[in-house]
Amino acid sequence: MPSSRPFAKWIEENQDKLVDRLAESVAIPSVSGDASYRPEVHRMGGWLADTLTGLGVSVKSVPLGKQNLDGQEIDLPPVLLGEYGSDPKKKTILVYGHYDVQPALKSDGWNTEPFSLSEDKETGRFYGRGSSDDKGPILGWLNVIEAHTKTNTEMPVNLKMVFEGMEESGSDGLEELVVAESKKFLSNVDAVCISDNYWLGTTSPCITYGLRGLAYFQVSISGPGADLHSGVFGGMVHEPMTDLFAVFSKLVTPSGEILVPGIADKVAPLTAEEKARYEVIDITVADFESAAGGKVTLSDDKATTLMGRMRYPSLSIHGVEGAFSAAGAKTVIPASVRGKFSIRLVPDLTPQDVNELVTKYLNDEFAKLGSKNTFKVEMLSGGMPWVASIDHWNYKAGTKATETVYSKTPDFTREGGSIPITLTFADALGKSVMLLPMGRGDDGAHSINEKLDRSNFIQGSILLGEYLTEVANFAE
Ligand SMILES: [Zn+2]
Repeated sequence: MPSSRPFAKWIEENQDKLVDRLAESVAIPSVSGDASYRPEVHRMGGWLADTLTGLGVSVKSVPLGKQNLDGQEIDLPPVLLGEYGSDPKKKTILVYGHYDVQPALKSDGWNTEPFSLSEDKETGRFYGRGSSDDKGPILGWLNVIEAHTKTNTEMPVNLKMVFEGMEESGSDGLEELVVAESKKFLSNVDAVCISDNYWLGTTSPCITYGLRGLAYFQVSISGPGADLHSGVFGGMVHEPMTDLFAVFSKLVTPSGEILVPGIADKVAPLTAEEKARYEVIDITVADFESAAGGKVTLSDDKATTLMGRMRYPSLSIHGVEGAFSAAGAKTVIPASVRGKFSIRLVPDLTPQDVNELVTKYLNDEFAKLGSKNTFKVEMLSGGMPWVASIDHWNYKAGTKATETVYSKTPDFTREGGSIPITLTFADALGKSVMLLPMGRGDDGAHSINEKLDRSNFIQGSILLGEYLTEVANFAE
C-alpha cells in the first residue's frame, strides 16, 4: 500500500509545482567540465542555496579555491553545507547530491533542448540534462522538507546536506572538505544516504550497497632507439610490440578468467545468502545483451552475469600507446609501446595488494621471454572497493520505505564501477552509507536525451521522506 502520510499526499497533490522547480533548476546549464560554463555552475549553487534558505534550511556556502581548467584559473563551485533541525533526541542523516551536470548540446542528438525540461505527456517523462543526474534527487530532499512544513508535520530526523558542484569533474576539493568537517559540521551524523545512482532496470527499485574499486596499470616496453622498418630490422631485433602481446596474453582468458596468481584467493567467498540476492534481482540476460548492443555476455545465467559485474573482479585491456593504429599497411616496428589495462576490485582486494601481485607476475612473465628490451609495469591509479552491511538500520529503513512506496522489496545491487564520494563518507565518518536511487536504469544520465519519469520524481521524493520516517522507527 502506498504511503498515506500527510507529507506524501501533499507531494502527490502539489506535483506540478514541484515539477516547475525541477524545470527551473534544469534551465541552469551547470556544466562543471567546461570553463565557459563555470558562471552557470556558480549560478546554480546560488539558486540552490537560496531555495534551501527559502525552505528554512540554514546553508553555508563553502568556497573551495581555484582550479586550472582549459588553461584558465577559475573558481571552483562552492560546496553547500545545509542543516535542517538539530534536535538531540533525533537521528541525524546526512544526504549528498551534486548540482553540476554533464555537458549537453542539442547537436549531440537530443530530441529536445537539453537545458529546458520538456514533458512527453504520453510517456510521463521529463527530458532535460540533470533531470535524473542529479537535480531530480536533490530536489527530492527539498520536496520532503517543504511537504513536512506545509502539512505541519514534524521532520522525523535532523538533516545535514552536502551538495557539491564538481561531481562530474572529479569532485575537486570535496574529500579534503569532508575529512576536515568530519570532526565539526559532520561529527554528529548517524548515517548517510546518497541518491545519485539508478535502478538496475526500469521496473524494480533498488538499494545499492557495494561498489567496485579499481587498479589501473601501464606496461612500458622499449628497445630500439627509434621506430624501425620491418624490411630492414624484422628478424634481427627483439620487438617491443611482440613482447607486449606475449605478456598481455598472460593477463586474462577470453572467458574472463584473471590469470594473475593470488587475485582470486583474496576475493571474499560467496555465501548462499548473498547468491540468493542475485537470483531474485529483476533483470534478464537479454536486458544486458540489449544494453551491450550484442549477444556477447560471458554467461547465459542471470546470477552469474550479475556477479561478474557486481561481486567479482574483472580485468580489461584498454589500449596500446605508441602502436601503429591508422588505416593502411605500414611496416613499422614501434620502438616503444605502452599497454594499458585495469582490474576492477572487490573486497578483500586492495589496490596495494593487486599492485604487488601484478608487478611480480608480469616481471616474471617478461623474464621468461628472454627479451633484451626493457620492461616496466606501474599502477597509474587505484581506488578501494566498498561494501556495506544491509543488516544496518539505515538499510532496514530504506528497505521498508521502498516496500511502502513501490509495494515490492528492493533489489539489493552492487555497482560495477565506482562512486568515490561513497568511500570518502564511509571512511571519514565511519557510518553506514546507503545508495538510494530515484531514477531508472534507462535514464541516460551521461548520454543524450537524459530523462526522469514523472512517477520516479514524485514517488522517489515520497520514498526519501518515507526513508527518513523509517529511520526514526528502526534506529537503535
Ligand atoms: Zn550523478
